[in-house]
Amino acid sequence: MRATLIYGAGDVRVEKVPDPVLREPTDAVVRVLRSCICGSDLWPYKSMPVSESMPVAERGQRIGHEFLGVVEDVGTDVSGLKTGDVVVAPFVWADNTCDFCLEGLQTSCRHGGLWGAPGVDGGQGEAVRVPQAEGTLVKLPVDEDSALLPSLLTLSDVFPTGHHCAVSAGVNPSTTVTVIGDGAVGLCAVLSAKRLGAERIILMGRHSDRTDLGREFGATDVVAERGKEGIEKVRELTGGDGTHTVLECVGLKPAIETAFEVARAGGVVSRVGAPQYPEVPAGFGVFMSNITLTGGVAPARAYIDELLLDILDGTVQPGRVFDRTIGLDEVPDGYRAMDAREALKVLIRP
Ligand SMILES: [Zn+2]
Repeated sequence: MRATLIYGAGDVRVEKVPDPVLREPTDAVVRVLRSCICGSDLWPYKSMPVSESMPVAERGQRIGHEFLGVVEDVGTDVSGLKTGDVVVAPFVWADNTCDFCLEGLQTSCRHGGLWGAPGVDGGQGEAVRVPQAEGTLVKLPVDEDSALLPSLLTLSDVFPTGHHCAVSAGVNPSTTVTVIGDGAVGLCAVLSAKRLGAERIILMGRHSDRTDLGREFGATDVVAERGKEGIEKVRELTGGDGTHTVLECVGLKPAIETAFEVARAGGVVSRVGAPQYPEVPAGFGVFMSNITLTGGVAPARAYIDELLLDILDGTVQPGRVFDRTIGLDEVPDGYRAMDAREALKVLIRP
């Protein structure tokens, strides 16, 4: 079969790899119906060092952590899943039974791990061996050709991540919200804040096609300015105070700096952008304003069952974040297009 491998910064290839097979009784094999490229895949795409000491043939690593597909084979210890089931996988695999999982923190599962780790398949391929399949996979009550597949695919990562950001911040009908970032996660954070009842949602982003979708998802105001001007604009919109909650969906230092500056005294900054900075700039001003910092990697598995229902009944359509669909062979160009900001989020049909 074919799958995507990353060899180093800017070097993504689609190559023949061995077909996945069951290795553990807790495994399943899933044929991928849809996958996609994540903003976080762009970090290694920008900066993964090329290990010159390693022979080229051994340098490639499987990549991709968002996929849904059809169960082709299940191990003897897997119950509740059978061949032919349509399933979605969260971006971290987990047993869903250990103490952390039972607390809703599947990202810290004692027996879980990451897709694309050594010995583990990535999601951007024709098929995937799924470890801890019973705990990881969620059965979807749809057919292989359902029109809902793009929205259901967002359950792997961006929708639960936006939701986690909003839930961690304590968004509710009486909180005002600022969302920083108009990428797929930022837009899903807008959608999630709206879903949780927020009436005032200020979206900070400068790509008008994306912020237009943000308005459709529930943003009431858009601030295109960044830095000092952006901060002033949000303050202007909120009587000088800032908002009760700030959802930081970028992960760069200017974004987290802005987040603290637009949070109302006593407010909450929630971050889900994978931090590309070593220290959080939370000094005396943040202390004096009693601002809480929360958020982190989203335990997507904990939220899928709940969010799934709203996709199935048409309440939300997070799949609208996909603005380009490609085949597996076009994946290298998909990375290039997302990195060049030509595409918001790229859907892959292997
Ligand atoms: Zn666990």
